[in-house]
Amino acid sequence: MSATQALCVFCSSDLETSEHLFIHCNFSRSVWMKVLDWWGIQYYLPRTLDSLLLQWPEIVHDKFQRSTWRLISSSTIWGIWLLRNKIVFEEGTLNLFDCFSTILHRVAIWLHTQDSNFTYTGNDLLRSSDGIKLWCNKKS
Ligand SMILES: [Zn+2]
Repeated sequence: MSATQALCVFCSSDLETSEHLFIHCNFSRSVWMKVLDWWGIQYYLPRTLDSLLLQWPEIVHDKFQRSTWRLISSSTIWGIWLLRNKIVFEEGTLNLFDCFSTILHRVAIWLHTQDSNFTYTGNDLLRSSDGIKLWCNKKS
């Protein structure tokens, strides 16, 4: 493997470690900030992936919102990973909105799979997080 192959495909300036790819890269940070902003939370990103996975669900206090938030963070990690692979293997392009949109569409599919009463689409979620919060609060 050459030195360039080990560089992050998003920024081409840092080594692609899991922490860099999923948290510290400016692009990934922007994805997380967009997700946080969409949900209406202000929060800092932890330094490590372990901390992210452990602390992240705790920033949402309601039990059902927390469960949904955990799913959203899984979709975010998955979305970053899939975009990375799309760029590496399919000459995909870096696009924050596309990545964010894919994350929310996946969340809508996953939640509908878990509960057929979840009827919001990815486009509904893109417009606002109000519906998903309402759905969570109805389950409480
Ligand atoms: Zn990077």
